[in-house]
Amino acid sequence: MTLQEIIGLDKQYFMNVFGDRNPVCFKRGKGMLLWDLEDKVYYDFLGGIAVNVLGHSHPKLVEALKSQLEKLLHTSNLYYIESQAKLAKILVENSCADKIFFANSGAEANEGAIKLARIYFKKKGFNHKYEIITLKNSFHGRTMTTVAATGQEKYQKPYYPITPGFKHVEINNIEALKEAITPSTCAVMLEPIQGESGVNPVDYEYMHELKKICEENDILLILDEVQTGIGRTGKLFGYLHYDIEPDIFTLAKALGGGIPIGAVCAKEHVANAFEPGDHGSTFGGNPFACTAGLAVMKTIFNDGLVENAKKMGEYFKEKLNQLKERHSIISEIRGKGLMIGIELSIDNAREITRKLLYKGFLVGNVGEKVLRILPPLIVTSEDIDKLIASIDEILSEISV
Ligand SMILES: *Cc1c(COP(=O)(O)O)cnc(C)c1O
Repeated sequence: MTLQEIIGLDKQYFMNVFGDRNPVCFKRGKGMLLWDLEDKVYYDFLGGIAVNVLGHSHPKLVEALKSQLEKLLHTSNLYYIESQAKLAKILVENSCADKIFFANSGAEANEGAIKLARIYFKKKGFNHKYEIITLKNSFHGRTMTTVAATGQEKYQKPYYPITPGFKHVEINNIEALKEAITPSTCAVMLEPIQGESGVNPVDYEYMHELKKICEENDILLILDEVQTGIGRTGKLFGYLHYDIEPDIFTLAKALGGGIPIGAVCAKEHVANAFEPGDHGSTFGGNPFACTAGLAVMKTIFNDGLVENAKKMGEYFKEKLNQLKERHSIISEIRGKGLMIGIELSIDNAREITRKLLYKGFLVGNVGEKVLRILPPLIVTSEDIDKLIASIDEILSEISV
């Protein structure tokens, strides 16, 4: 099929929620590279929006999935599942969590976290403690409840009435948080670095103060690590940058390396609030998805990919700051590790993203002001040099 034929089918048969997509369709990928229908090659610096941490078609992931595929895909959670038990163990042994629950997506993991926070207080007899404070400009997913958690009106308004019990406060403003807390507050939920709204990190001091306030007021701290988790920020989890531990955190995107899987990770005393029948999933944690998760985690550890994310993140920032010196159109470089935002001084992010696409580089944009870079954790300095040279060329054309 040609690209035009595929676009024709999409326009006729697929709901138009994604609008006019980038005019390209990929048929194959390997490592950092993707090939389109006409065999044009692209460097993937978006990694399927922070999903393809091992790059495309990583031999370890392919091998593990192929062999699982031939044995068993799904049994339901009525039975014990070996890869599920093993993946839960790896996550617990390498994080502050004691217990794990597997879902199928980020939104679903966040739903689980929200339900866990509420049931935790219900079972302690605090029926009035149900309200959750989240940040303005946050993103927590697309279900009715995670849309309510998301601090952006554009995701909520078309769907009123949405799930009640959420309040939104300004990021890095501890006074605003204090004012929002009432005896009804059961949890504060936030992303260590806000991804979808343009790579906005939470300050170290704010996170510390927030953790203290949560402890003092018997409020649970939930971190949405759907995007920051699994090595993205140069540490295995985003919370490790802050020297604090959340009571609950969620994972998804990178965890399956491309196979859908999400996780609710919690401390023992909180996790114990979920008892038989309180929560569940048909697909969540099935043998195939958990085999993907296991292969991703093992490869990340064996190949030192968290360290690579840290090292390449620093290299990236250094190169981008050099670009910033020469191009006034770049006003700020933000982020940690391989979660990078480039703030522009003029409204040009969409056009630059499109120009990079034509030059064979995939990056993302958040509105017109921010370019977003989320490459696979296997990225090398040679790959980065190529992208930097192309951004340099494009910015030189715009500045003139
Ligand atoms: C992507 C994302 C989600 C939603 O994940 P889905 O798998 O699309 O449901 C939730 N929270 C954060 C921080 C995200 O980046």
